[in-house]
Amino acid sequence: MCAADRPLPLLVVADAGARLVRRGLVAPGDAARWQGARVAVFRRGPVVCELPAARVDAPSRAPYLPRDSQPARAHPVCHPGARRFAPRMTLALYNTLTRRVEPFQPLAPPRVTLYTCGPTVWNYAHLGNFRTFLFEDLLRRYLEASGYDVFHIMNLTDVDDRTIKAARAAGTTLRRHTEPFVRAFFEDRDYLRLRPAHVHPRATESVPAMIVLVRRLLDRGVAYQGDDGSVYFAIDRFPGYGRLSRLDRREIKVGARVASDEYAKEDPRDFALWKKAGPDDDAVGAAWDAPFGRGRPGWHLECSAMSLYEIGTRFGVETLDIHAGGVDLIFPHHEDEIAQSEAATGRPFARWWLHGEFLNVRGTKMSKRFGNFLAARDLREQGVDAAAVRLLFWQTHYRKPLDFTDEALAAAGEGVKRLGDFRSRLVGEGGRERGEGRLAELAAEFEADFRAALDDDLNAPQACAALFQLAHAGNRALDAGAGGAAAAVAALDRAMAVLDVLPTPRTAEPDLARWIEAQVAARERARKSKDFKEADRIREALLARGVELEDTPTGTKWRVV
Ligand SMILES: [Zn+2]
Repeated sequence: MCAADRPLPLLVVADAGARLVRRGLVAPGDAARWQGARVAVFRRGPVVCELPAARVDAPSRAPYLPRDSQPARAHPVCHPGARRFAPRMTLALYNTLTRRVEPFQPLAPPRVTLYTCGPTVWNYAHLGNFRTFLFEDLLRRYLEASGYDVFHIMNLTDVDDRTIKAARAAGTTLRRHTEPFVRAFFEDRDYLRLRPAHVHPRATESVPAMIVLVRRLLDRGVAYQGDDGSVYFAIDRFPGYGRLSRLDRREIKVGARVASDEYAKEDPRDFALWKKAGPDDDAVGAAWDAPFGRGRPGWHLECSAMSLYEIGTRFGVETLDIHAGGVDLIFPHHEDEIAQSEAATGRPFARWWLHGEFLNVRGTKMSKRFGNFLAARDLREQGVDAAAVRLLFWQTHYRKPLDFTDEALAAAGEGVKRLGDFRSRLVGEGGRERGEGRLAELAAEFEADFRAALDDDLNAPQACAALFQLAHAGNRALDAGAGGAAAAVAALDRAMAVLDVLPTPRTAEPDLARWIEAQVAARERARKSKDFKEADRIREALLARGVELEDTPTGTKWRVV
């Protein structure tokens, strides 16, 4: 997420805690946790009426940027060989905007445009950030497995208050400071098996789009230049403000600690779109010239500008199908993104808003502030299999807080191993038999349960339960010599395209690899001369050494399990 630890403005949000809990947006304990985080102060009070849906007059039909400013590129196909379920459009997702689980229907099926707020690369992303990214990975993979053509955008926030402060403290430039953290993020992403986004726009490389957006908001009269030279969004001129977070505008008041620049605004609740450059900004290379003065973008503006630019130039639309992030981004980040985007385009900014809950350590949200920070790379350095981390996260629904403990991680590691062993047994059997049998029946039952679970707002815990039920019943069927193993392997692999929780294959020593290659070649010769008995004997011998074979159209592949 863009801002797991971002110090939000100190706000007094009357009554919000109770209402957020009542509406199911946060669990009862969480409002109190936010309070502890000094993000917002909640107090009890009567429910205040909700705001009307956001609309501004005179909707624009113009694309966000001139189409010729960047030729529309072909949508890259990410996984051309990925096995998919038969296309089904039965998915329902919880939409924070409506507080309901709704049948998912993208704007132009099968295309789904997905924007996920990416990391702020001032430091390493922590495991709490990665819980959000993993929930988004599950969403992305299940959409793809369901036959949708997903275009995934994840930004990199490489200019904001924290990156500038960190670069200044290190005595270097923004670029030099953030670059290693960008690389580290991609390494962590690959370690945790997250499918790479189709584009990772960087804020510092997207400033022209941000300037265009500010210009548009100024032209429409919903933004103004303050006495301090910064440009602010006037929330009073956007009637829909508060619709996502369901905070009444009257409730949003600036607290006692008022920053000096608040006096430059017309209304203390307004937020900065463009911050006038200060000496620190120029010193680290975080200032750009704009028609409304030299400065830098506000964090909220970055996401609006980058997402609108990507979908506008590629697909000629100004509405995302899905915008996702952590639950702590609902207010003010996503609320402000909606305000900026819809005030500029006159169209809904995103059809579905999905938010993942926090990762807790010892009952507290993981963050540097609370001293319970754990980076993804810490786990990798400890030799933890990413499959175990994924399984652990899947075993709690993305809208429920998850407690991370060593015991839970160890248990997930055992689960992953059980699944790997089960698949190896199936592969061993599947090489011999082709027919139907009990295993094929179990596989069909499993797939129905698996899809039903994920169709229901990505109920991964239930999908995992179905998976372990398959392994349990499947092992018993194997003991009894049942047929249908090939069908079970196929079903398992389709599920793995979504959950991806099989153990990471171990690499073989060079001597062992040479021996395996020789055995595979001998088996191939035996198969060609129709000596299937010998071919099976070699397969068994390899399996006994922990080597699994898979016959594919491009030849036999092996892996050490
Ligand atoms: Zn964002």
